[in-house]
Amino acid sequence: MNICKKCLIRDMAEKSYTENLKSYMQRIDENIKVSEQEYEKRLSICKQCESLLSGMCLKCGCYVELRAMTKKQKCPNIPNKW
Ligand code: SF4
Repeated sequence: MNICKKCLIRDMAEKSYTENLKSYMQRIDENIKVSEQEYEKRLSICKQCESLLSGMCLKCGCYVELRAMTKKQKCPNIPNKW
């Protein structure tokens, strides 16, 4: 797969963008990731949240599957949900 360090989303084909995002997520250091159990718990909360739209959080604009992956990230909602 080609990784374009200088591409914006609008420069990429939709399929390519999704593949890049998944590839990025797979390369995240295991030491900064939450456990699989915690990850699934976070995503299940997002799936029931009114702020989830097409995989993105309307509170912060992030992709929740990426945001939920790391220990330092929190739900941006106040009060936060995870
Ligand atoms: S990160 Fe928080 S506010 Fe955003 S969709 Fe998930 S639960 Fe909702």
